[in-house]
Amino acid sequence: MRRVRLYDTTLRDGTQGEGVSFSVKDKIKIAQRLDELGVDYIEGGWPGSNPKDIEFFRAIQDVPLLHAKIAAFGSTRRANVPVEDDYNIKALAASNTPVVTIVGKSWDFHVTAALRTTLEENLRMISDSVSYFKKLGKEVIYDAEHFFDGFKNNPDYAVDTLRVAQEASADCLVLCDTNGGVLTIPLQDIVEEMLALFKNVPMGIHAHNDSGVAIANTLVAVMAGVEHVQGTINGYGERCGNANLCSVIPNLELKMGVRCLGDGMLANLTHLSRYVSELANLSHDERQPYVGHSSFAHKGGIHVSAVQRAAQTYEHIDPEKVGNHRRVLVSELSGRSSILYKATEYGLDLDKDDPHTREIIEKLKRLEYEGYQFEAAEGSFELLMREAMGEHNPFFHLEGFRVIVEKKGDLPTLSEATIKVRVGDEVVHTAAEGDGPVHALDRALRKALEQIYPALKDIRLTDFKVRVLDEKAGTAALVRVLIESSNDGKSWETVGVSENIIEASWQALVDSIEYGLLKTISQKELEVEQA
Ligand SMILES: [Zn+2]
Repeated sequence: MRRVRLYDTTLRDGTQGEGVSFSVKDKIKIAQRLDELGVDYIEGGWPGSNPKDIEFFRAIQDVPLLHAKIAAFGSTRRANVPVEDDYNIKALAASNTPVVTIVGKSWDFHVTAALRTTLEENLRMISDSVSYFKKLGKEVIYDAEHFFDGFKNNPDYAVDTLRVAQEASADCLVLCDTNGGVLTIPLQDIVEEMLALFKNVPMGIHAHNDSGVAIANTLVAVMAGVEHVQGTINGYGERCGNANLCSVIPNLELKMGVRCLGDGMLANLTHLSRYVSELANLSHDERQPYVGHSSFAHKGGIHVSAVQRAAQTYEHIDPEKVGNHRRVLVSELSGRSSILYKATEYGLDLDKDDPHTREIIEKLKRLEYEGYQFEAAEGSFELLMREAMGEHNPFFHLEGFRVIVEKKGDLPTLSEATIKVRVGDEVVHTAAEGDGPVHALDRALRKALEQIYPALKDIRLTDFKVRVLDEKAGTAALVRVLIESSNDGKSWETVGVSENIIEASWQALVDSIEYGLLKTISQKELEVEQA
């Protein structure tokens, strides 16, 4: 089987993406994960550009890696400066990495306009910089910046830049679409032409996504014969990002028969992708191919019933291969098969002829029409199903609540809630203050219920989202509240809808507590039974 070498630049090009920033510790952790996955090269940063990258190169030397080589990235020496005196070159050498990646200009216009030097001097800059690191015994990768634009503008010169890099013994020539503007077919033509010209040196591809085709450009370059592939996890990178390795890798391995990871490592891809999102402190792109939460989520009724019969009807690959999983979403588009699928998931005994099935579907459609959404509120949906089937007795009943919000002059706003709930024959009446009306209500409700259900102490409210729904123009705006709660590493979402934000929050809050108690208490009973 053919194999290409993967060169990850999440820690360098990736951090140039808007909103992406990693601490040195984060960078080390990501490097370790990439190494475990079997990535061949990890570009750690540009030591000439910032002290954080210098610190990374120092720290990574003490980290044992199984397979990957660490690369330091930097530009060719400046014009008219001896290579050994150049600040950037010195910083690269000081990084003490086995691999050095030198980026040089291929586009004549950049040489004269940006570097303001002669075309001949630029060739010497490339040659001197590559030779310098070869003499130090390094593996040198040459990144030909703006290669495709340069080639279109002045093909002879662009080729000359590659030739001097090759003559200086570069180990790989990487064609870079630095501004991401080249479409796939012209790119393929140029890559093929270069592969024919440079037969004795491996070539690579570095694609940006400004035209939305970075992944396609990378794949055709591999088809054409490049042996070295650059990209980033989750496609992070300057502007619209780099070629997303989370798509490139499975496309290569599963669809093109090209190996690029260690044995059995593909199944860790989804996990790695989420891990990197988490360290970047960015919300995970759930719609990205292969590794998103939605990548194998089925919503349309026909899709769901077909997938249950044969998954390949609507799934291009088995989700487990990349460590992802199939999901069935409940919504107004759901038919019987989705409801039955969920019943099995929840451990409920329901079959297609059960009148409850129709009843649940109708209720679901009506509620979604009213503005509820259960795709992201499965806690509420499970309760809805259980209640419809007569399998859930509420843990408490509301007798009434009152919420007061008070603002006086410049003093902070005060919120206070009083609440009366009934549990069996017992009526509990409490009051609490909070940072806002919903917080006050949550605290008062908990105060009342914790006396009876101590398990509630461990259930925490972890997220609260409000959305104004404008789908029904002409009436007062509805608001939808989504609450996420968690206990012991498990989390669940619940929903409420009303024209009144307190009412909507209350509904979501009640479901969140009912669901939490249902899971905690039935789990405890199970443990007692087993003991
Ligand atoms: Zn780049």
